[in-house]
Amino acid sequence: RSTSSRFRRLFLLLSQDQDKDYVGFATLPNQVHRKSVKKGFDFTLMVAGESGLGKSTLVNSLFLTDLYKDRKLLNAEERITQTVEITKHTVDIEEKGVKLKLTIVDTPGFGDAVNNTECWKSVADYIDQQFEQYFRDESGLNRKNIQDNRVHCCLYFISPFGHGLRPLDVEFMKALHEKVNIVPILAKADTLTPTEVKKKKFKIREEIQQYGIKIYQFPDCDSDEDEDFKQQDQELKDSIPFAVIGSNTVVEAKGKRVRGRLYPWGIVEVENSAHCDFVKLRNMLVRTHMQDLKDVTRETHYENYRAHCIQSMTRMVVKERNRNKLTRESGTDFPIPVIPSTTDTETEKLIREKDEEVPRRHSDPTLEPHSDPGLDPGADPEAS
Ligand code: GDP
Repeated sequence: RSTSSRFRRLFLLLSQDQDKDYVGFATLPNQVHRKSVKKGFDFTLMVAGESGLGKSTLVNSLFLTDLYKDRKLLNAEERITQTVEITKHTVDIEEKGVKLKLTIVDTPGFGDAVNNTECWKSVADYIDQQFEQYFRDESGLNRKNIQDNRVHCCLYFISPFGHGLRPLDVEFMKALHEKVNIVPILAKADTLTPTEVKKKKFKIREEIQQYGIKIYQFPDCDSDEDEDFKQQDQELKDSIPFAVIGSNTVVEAKGKRVRGRLYPWGIVEVENSAHCDFVKLRNMLVRTHMQDLKDVTRETHYENYRAHCIQSMTRMVVKERNRNKLTRESGTDFPIPVIPSTTDTETEKLIREKDEEVPRRHSDPTLEPHSDPGLDPGADPEAS
């Protein structure tokens, strides 16, 4: 209420401004800001990778919460046949009046079982299901309060003990890179020396490129940004995969209480940038790139899913219409999916073209079938 009255006062002051050229839209950023703050923000983060790599510890360290209080750890025997089970935890965090609804999607047991073939499949299915739900809601009648569960980012944990990527890592990332923003993480960096971290990062980056894995690309910064900002941006890009350390305990280092790991030979501090990239990762996720991760999810990954869906729906509708015409059935009980309005013209055009084509073919048996197998009514066994 006080912000709103402050805003109104500011507006009044501006409207009394003597400058005739002043229209007042300079307050637009304030209006947008106010509205967003009121609504609150949401972010969905997925963590994936072999169990025991410190995923839960890192999430707790990142958001200073204990998201895994009720976690049940499986014993070795239970893990032999374990399937990938997906769990979701939601927390509401508030900082300086700004609310963030954070959802963590965990994939426990990933890579644990003896047979890990296609263990990425349930994760890919989960991401698709969220897109599907959103697509349904968006095409439905009540589009006002859609609950958006789309996954905005996937932190993929890579073991520090291997030589670069394992086949499972490659398989997983390749299966998911067109569905979600993948940010690779080099887990438990305190088990490596600084030289080893450097070498491993280089090897992993090289392999990511070699195998054609498309990880999340940080947007290029504008040429008019100041040098400091440009340098920070470059450092962030060069840090991939982020070498991180997680800890659920607070230890005393140089008279200060910090989140860290106490070893007989010393203390590793989670938030010390000389020890690991934890702060860089947290800043990237929370302070600098959260909105971009959401934008890329909406504009690229979801848009790909949506286009794919509409394409197959169009094919189904065209095929069904043709079948009905050819078998001279009146009406159809086929549940025609609701296609969002943006593609109406394109879809309608395609359907009209196909409609016109069918009677022509019927009357002229010498006409060659269409070359597109997906849209060809001749390819339908029931139609012929
Ligand atoms: P998750 O199964 O991937 O969720 O892994 P957990 O977070 O449960 O961690 C497994 C074990 O690794 C626990 O004993 C943690 O204390 C330990 N651990 C977590 N993070 C780190 C780390 O950064 N470095 C080291 N050395 N150990 C870690």
